[in-house]
Amino acid sequence: MKFLKKTDIKQLVLLFVASLIVSLPYFLYSPKQGLMAVLVLMILAMLHKTIFLVASIYSLFINSFFMHLVTTWGGDSLVSRIQASYESATYERWEYFKTYIGITDFLMTVGYFIISLFVIYIVVKKLELSSFARKFSLSVSTLAIVASLLIFPTLETLKNFQLVHLPLTIYKTYDNLSVINERASFLQKAEDAKISCPNSFDKIIFIQGESANKHHLSVYGYEKKTTPFFDSIKPYAFDAIAPANQTRFAIAIELTDATVENFDVFYKNKSIVSKLSSCGYTTHWISNQGKTGEFDTTITSIAKEADHTYFLNDLDYTTAGLDGNVLKTLDLIDTKTPEKQAFFIHLLGSHFAYSDRYPADKAFMKGDDVVTHYDNSIHYTDWVISEIYKRFLNENSLYIYLSDHSEVVQKGGHGYSPSFKGEYDIPLVMWSKQKERLSTLFKTTKGKLINTESLNHIIEYLTGMNDSLGVSYGTKVLSVIPENVVDYLTLPKHEKE
Ligand SMILES: [Zn+2]
Repeated sequence: MKFLKKTDIKQLVLLFVASLIVSLPYFLYSPKQGLMAVLVLMILAMLHKTIFLVASIYSLFINSFFMHLVTTWGGDSLVSRIQASYESATYERWEYFKTYIGITDFLMTVGYFIISLFVIYIVVKKLELSSFARKFSLSVSTLAIVASLLIFPTLETLKNFQLVHLPLTIYKTYDNLSVINERASFLQKAEDAKISCPNSFDKIIFIQGESANKHHLSVYGYEKKTTPFFDSIKPYAFDAIAPANQTRFAIAIELTDATVENFDVFYKNKSIVSKLSSCGYTTHWISNQGKTGEFDTTITSIAKEADHTYFLNDLDYTTAGLDGNVLKTLDLIDTKTPEKQAFFIHLLGSHFAYSDRYPADKAFMKGDDVVTHYDNSIHYTDWVISEIYKRFLNENSLYIYLSDHSEVVQKGGHGYSPSFKGEYDIPLVMWSKQKERLSTLFKTTKGKLINTESLNHIIEYLTGMNDSLGVSYGTKVLSVIPENVVDYLTLPKHEKE
């Protein structure tokens, strides 16, 4: 019986160590799957050095990317994270890099890459096994894989194998986006419904904020006076939660008949924007969020329903400016005509990075900590809203302000999985001189938590499109993706909240 020679053993150890280093990030997530990756690499090395070279560089990329996703966002949000990257405006990707990829992250990744490439190089250069050692290693690795496939449920193992799963997810996400295009063709074919809005407002001003946590607004009792304008006009401030912790699902649910538990309705449904058009309002969509790249988001899809759309940050992320810029756009529109108009104003609000969301001369507090920057951004949003207010006659206007979702301020983000309660605690503020239906709404919902999945029905009620309130008090919310419905009441608070 033949035995492995000393040189063979040394080389096999070298190969094993190299494969281990290449697969290292994966071990942090799942040791079982990390070991599988090592075995596969060893088998490939037995077949040909070049195959090993290509495979290890491939898995080096996938594993590093995967490690970043898992450590930053948690393990079950991959599809959404990749989708967000497809759908995001360039400025958002830029912000993402600025916020989540620190210098340590960068150095660690670069250091890890250099070390890994070095060991791959050594293996490719030095590996000279005897044919016996080759067969030996091939059989042992193959046997180990077969054994583990027998021990663990096969399908489950393959499905969760990130070297396969991650690229497949990227492809699937790309494919999923075509559904948005289906919505476009649905809207094109759908006939104009005959709707009337007898409880008429001259102007409806709907301000869609971003990442505002109601516990940081003084109109909701925050001790710092972050919302002097709201405090002065004394609006109806409702207790509300967002239906999702990501913009594109939250707004899609808020403005259409889609609900937390049935998101798919969105693809075959006109939003409240179209319905107000049918009621005789000229609709304007003004967005200070960046326009998307190659793909339409759910939000662009809704924006297109408006008679006029204004995307302030067309293409160039470097000019993705302050929310005050929407005022310049408003100034170009005659807001004092007797014509019925509805404005949907989409702000950047308190989107990370907070310090970029307000001009230095409008900081109401000095300091460089995350909460100060955040509170300054809330204070600036309040100022922007007060300036929007000045641009209307306000004899018979309806104002609605809410945030798409909330924010875990101390952690500097939203869209976590598992989710935190704080990601859903949004402000929902309304006011008008015409108070009848508003006060009924306030009295009826007092002491209860409104799920803004029903926001479109609330607007239908306020405008008289509908005489029933249609408020949802459901506590189910989306955690990152429509497939992941959770109960808000059972979500944990973030440790620093
Ligand atoms: Zn958002």
